[in-house]
Amino acid sequence: MSAGKSLSIGLGVAVTLCTAALLAVVPHVTDDAATGLALIIAASLLIGVGVAAAVWGYVGRQISNLRRGATHFEAWAQGEKSGAGAFQGDRALAELMASAERTIAALRKKSDQAVSQRREIEIQCRISEAERRHAEAILNSLADAVVVTDAFNEVAVANEAAGRLLGFELGSALRRPVDRVIHDPTLIKLIKDTREGGSTGLRRHVEHKLGIGGHDSTFDVTLSCVSDNRAVDAVAASQGTETTGVVTILRDITREKEIAEMKSDFVSNVSHELRTPLSSIKAYLEMLVDGEAQDEKTRMEFYNIIQGEANRLSRLIDNILNISRIESGVVKVQREHVSLPQLIKDAIDVMLPQARAKQIELNEVPTPVFFQVFADRDMIYQAILNLISNAIKYTHPGGRVTVAIKVDEHARTVNVSVIDTGVGVPPADLPHLFEKFYRVADHKKMAKGTGLGLNLVKHIVETVHGGHVTVTSEVGKGSTFTFSLPMADAAQ
Ligand code: ADP
Repeated sequence: MSAGKSLSIGLGVAVTLCTAALLAVVPHVTDDAATGLALIIAASLLIGVGVAAAVWGYVGRQISNLRRGATHFEAWAQGEKSGAGAFQGDRALAELMASAERTIAALRKKSDQAVSQRREIEIQCRISEAERRHAEAILNSLADAVVVTDAFNEVAVANEAAGRLLGFELGSALRRPVDRVIHDPTLIKLIKDTREGGSTGLRRHVEHKLGIGGHDSTFDVTLSCVSDNRAVDAVAASQGTETTGVVTILRDITREKEIAEMKSDFVSNVSHELRTPLSSIKAYLEMLVDGEAQDEKTRMEFYNIIQGEANRLSRLIDNILNISRIESGVVKVQREHVSLPQLIKDAIDVMLPQARAKQIELNEVPTPVFFQVFADRDMIYQAILNLISNAIKYTHPGGRVTVAIKVDEHARTVNVSVIDTGVGVPPADLPHLFEKFYRVADHKKMAKGTGLGLNLVKHIVETVHGGHVTVTSEVGKGSTFTFSLPMADAAQ
């Protein structure tokens, strides 16, 4: 505290006390009322001046104390030594300062804790966000459609496949009632029934058809109840009651069903295909054994029929075995220089009886050039036989089957085409013709088959020889199956 301020306080107090004492003695020193009044006024003025001096001094001292305190306090707040020591002369201020320091230190600790908590929460948020994005990416990578509804029957989660399949926008579907997002009434009912009647952990499988792109697809719909809350879940699981949401997964099983159907068709067709030539071989053999063929001409006719049926049987068995050998990679390929025109001639000779029996004209377009490929003779022969056999099978009596060879000098390939004037293939079936077991529905009544012949042709030409097989067709007019093989190089 400055000396001036202490002096003014002392002076003010002294003046005030003296004047008060003077006032007390005034009535005793004078009888004159006017003098007395003047003395009292003068004394009062003096008291006023004294009090003002004392107050001014005191307030000034407090202000300068506070300023000093503030300076020390700032210094302390910035990490310098404690400010309380600066008030050793003033206990009250020192205590005030110490208490403020304690409070500030406690606040600082709390603020540090809050900052580290905030950092931890930020890290957790980032981890949760990364996990959410990861889960979303996994969900979106699934080919199956997934829709999760919550306790309020609103869409909580859905993946892109679900949006595409059920026709909704992912972004706008979330948190909306499921019946406003999905428009298939059966599916909505299934979800509702599962939520109301199901219990966590239980799973339902329902087969359901959905019309997509103009045709029906079959889906395996899996519905299971879930609980959002783990605590509720634990209790619920023990009681088997609490359900807060439903997970619905739709898996397209159209193809699986078709394949299952094809396989069962295949088994019955193969049995039939095997049994037919076998029964005929047995019947003719019995007639020969019983001596029913009395002349040489009839016997020769029977032998020819038995031979034809045996060949048919062996072709079928070859088809089945070769497909499985090529697919499992155990087929032995014996490449050699093969003359395609000669191979075609041989195949036509073998198929002529079948064509004649159906009154179908079978011939080849004569080729003057001697084309060679470096290939497995037996396999290529089987591919040509399969194509000619099909052309005869799917052409009505009176029709024509032609085999032609062309060479593409530029691409260095030889192209073999089997052209028929038969029933043709509907455009929707064309992309599937070379699939295993695939048969055109409209043709099933026309001829028995296994749906393996073309698949084997494709395997032989493309998988084994690196060639290419194509088809063009018009319903009611006929089809052209063409395969191309690389021409044999002089070096081969
Ligand atoms: P399949 O034993 O049934 O004849 P393929 O694999 O040889 O089996 O042929 C598959 C299907 O392709 C046949 O069932 C038939 O519907 C169709 N197909 C094959 N060749 C022809 C053809 N030349 N003309 C019309 N349809 C054909």
